[in-house]
Amino acid sequence: MNLLNYFSIKTRMLALVLLPLIFASVLSGLEINTQHNHVQALNMVNHKIDFLQSLSKLNSSINNVREDLFNQSTNVDFAQLNSDIQQIEQQLPSSFSAQYTTEMQAWYESISEANKELPEIAVDGLNDWSTWINELQVQALNTLEKDRTNVSEEINRELAILYQLQWLSLWSIDEKWLISQLLLNRNNNELLNQLNTITERQQLLVERFIDISAKPEQVALLLDTFSDKAFEQSYQLRSHILKGEALAESTQQSLAAFSQRLNSIQYVVSTFSEQLTDNIHGEIQHSKNLILLFCIALLASLLCIGLIGANLYGRIINYLRHVIKTMSQIEETHDYSQKINEAGHDELSVFSSKLNNLINERHQNDKKILRAKSEAEKANQAKSSFLANMSHEIRTPLNGIIGMSDIMSSTKLTTTQKEYLQTIETSSQALLLLINDILDLSKIESGNLSITNTDANISEVIYDTLTIVLAKVVEKNLDLEVEIDADMPHLISLDEHRMRQVLMNLLSNAVKFTNKGSIKVVANASKDSAGYIDLTIHIIDSGIGIAKDKQQQIFSPFTQEDDTITRQFGGTGLGLAICKQLVELMGGTISIESVKGEGCCFTIALKSQIVTLDQPKDSQFNGLTAALISNNSELTEQLNKECQQQGFTLNYHYQSCFDLLQDKQAFDLLFIDSTCSTRDAIETLPELLQQKNIFTIAVNTPKEKRTLDNMDATITLPLLGNRFRNAIHNGIENRQLRQKQQPVPHGTDVETTEPVNIVVLIVEDNLVNQKVASLLIKQAGFDFIIANNGQEAFEFISTGESIHAILMDCMMPVMDGFTATEKIRAWENDNSLQRLPIIALTASVLDQDIQKCYQSGMDDYLAKPFKKEALLHKLKSLPKLAS
Ligand code: ADP
Repeated sequence: MNLLNYFSIKTRMLALVLLPLIFASVLSGLEINTQHNHVQALNMVNHKIDFLQSLSKLNSSINNVREDLFNQSTNVDFAQLNSDIQQIEQQLPSSFSAQYTTEMQAWYESISEANKELPEIAVDGLNDWSTWINELQVQALNTLEKDRTNVSEEINRELAILYQLQWLSLWSIDEKWLISQLLLNRNNNELLNQLNTITERQQLLVERFIDISAKPEQVALLLDTFSDKAFEQSYQLRSHILKGEALAESTQQSLAAFSQRLNSIQYVVSTFSEQLTDNIHGEIQHSKNLILLFCIALLASLLCIGLIGANLYGRIINYLRHVIKTMSQIEETHDYSQKINEAGHDELSVFSSKLNNLINERHQNDKKILRAKSEAEKANQAKSSFLANMSHEIRTPLNGIIGMSDIMSSTKLTTTQKEYLQTIETSSQALLLLINDILDLSKIESGNLSITNTDANISEVIYDTLTIVLAKVVEKNLDLEVEIDADMPHLISLDEHRMRQVLMNLLSNAVKFTNKGSIKVVANASKDSAGYIDLTIHIIDSGIGIAKDKQQQIFSPFTQEDDTITRQFGGTGLGLAICKQLVELMGGTISIESVKGEGCCFTIALKSQIVTLDQPKDSQFNGLTAALISNNSELTEQLNKECQQQGFTLNYHYQSCFDLLQDKQAFDLLFIDSTCSTRDAIETLPELLQQKNIFTIAVNTPKEKRTLDNMDATITLPLLGNRFRNAIHNGIENRQLRQKQQPVPHGTDVETTEPVNIVVLIVEDNLVNQKVASLLIKQAGFDFIIANNGQEAFEFISTGESIHAILMDCMMPVMDGFTATEKIRAWENDNSLQRLPIIALTASVLDQDIQKCYQSGMDDYLAKPFKKEALLHKLKSLPKLAS
């Protein structure tokens, strides 16, 4: 049954219609064939009857001719005999089955030969000829009897009667012939014997009639005939002759009785023949009627099955098509006004109405779901805005705390005060982190956090993040290893900001939970043909590890491995939850492998599109010649590769400072592996080299970090990439600076420039924050002016007073920062003035608020609470303020 389901409904319906049609046709065909064969058999019987009649006609013609010849009549009718023989010839093929046709052909040859010989035969040879002819007739009748046809019992029985009558007629004719000869010669023993035999045979025939069980009317006809006077007379005559008694009547009279007897038998034969022929015709007609009936029945059933089948097929297939089409349209367009046609009164109509009910129900459910969704969205929105507001409100005072402690740390404090201040600092940073995490989580959960891909250099992202945790790594005396695939594409499409956040989280955890051993970052990339890479980043540590059964639950919010963790390491249990959601939003996965007590390996796997495969060749360091002092071959190889990346080569390699001083080669740049030489050697070497105008770069490992003040730049392994380039860049700049500082030759004018006072306008409504900003600005050596809201700021700017930059808070009474900025930009435009740099100071970290800053015309933004360095970095990166 299940197998049938592999065929379409269409195929099964076709089979359902066609198979009965085929069966009906085959069965009817077989029945029609049977009836056709029956008709053919009946026709053959008919031909046999005709043949029998012709045979009996031939018999009487033969008898007439031989009697005429015997009586030496002058008028012998050979013509009739010839025509009878010809008729026999014509009837032969259709009267016998193929099996007996050859036999009968031979028979016919013999009889026509006998016929041809007849005119030549003398009177005394007639008896022999008659015996020959008699044998041929017996043969013909025997063959007829043997050649049975497949017809009904009734017909076969009647045919048998007819054959018996034929035999009777044959023996009667023969008897007459013998008697007519015996009348002339009563003592011919041979003839008497023949007569005797014939008499016995006739006797046998009568008995056979009884065996055949003829019908009563047939028996009555036979009795009537046999009780005729002519029969009696002829029997008497035969008995006299056989007994050798004297005859009572004349020869002519006796023979006349025989002729009459023959006629009677002939009459019976033809009566039986006619009856049988009628019967046969009746049966033929019956069979033909049956054939016609079958044909009509077959046609009618074909027509009915065809019509009903076609109708059913059309109804079901069209209906299914209609249902599938309507359902698909509803699925695609959600247009529930579409309905399934319910026309008709069959089961499909009922089914349609049930389906329509279901569609209607789904419509109602959809409406309910949409309503619930919109309500949930509204609630979520409310939750998000509540969180955003809370975060804003907490950040504002936090800015005061962090800013003030920052300012305080640069004042003169006792050791205890410094320690207290450190606690304030750590606690406020932890609070800030918590607020950020909660805000992120809520943004992710409400679906408001969207991933924005930019062109990112993943190696730099890894190095940058490591740079941030490096201090902690050094503090805990851990080893740091980085392995980045040599085939890592230069730029890939990635949300760099979110990737940094994930890496930062994982690396901070790795450092936090590792007390000895190492931290390792491994980044691999495998390219595919469609221009994508499968990026995997492993963060491996040798820390406390996580028990197997806790490995999945640590990815849930506010979950830590166990309660001791908070006590021992702090934290909130939010970091990994955020990481997991962020990586999944980026289309990737994050997984963990860990053995308790041995360490953890967190793996980020994601697919990313390649933007640029190879790093563009940088020409700024072309032509630099460089040397290295190191006895570490691995480091030499690594630096060699990096130098080539930057467009120059490591020309000379020395094992120690001493080797270098022996050699008199000239070069521009010297890398010194700080682990390979004594501190003294390293400290004196730069001094010597500066005279030769060579700049020096110290190559440190985090653990071996030494303060090498007299070096032009420092590289901390394993952090290379942009840091390596910047180190060389700084080295070159320092060398140039040194050159400038060399004594100026006499007679050259030295340009002296008046120091310009830089004025920053602080627009802030919160008094504490006004104080924080103004103190920080002052510490940086700039002047400041304070405006309490946007309105004041705009009024101040529109007086045309000279200032260099504006720090603009966003949320303020009277006029907010966005409106103030728009007004200032419009005013600058109207007066064709240069744009003043405006940096937003905002306690909101919502993407839309940050976007709003840029849209209103601000140049940069700084999230509150901010640290002194961050503010100064922003201010100094403004072209006008850079010193
Ligand atoms: P938090 O670090 O603030 O507790 P996280 O979500 O980042 O929150 O981490 C959840 C928990 O997973 C941690 O408290 C700690 O139990 C476990 N964990 C995370 N990273 C590591 C690691 N590298 N080694 C051992 N345990 C870790």
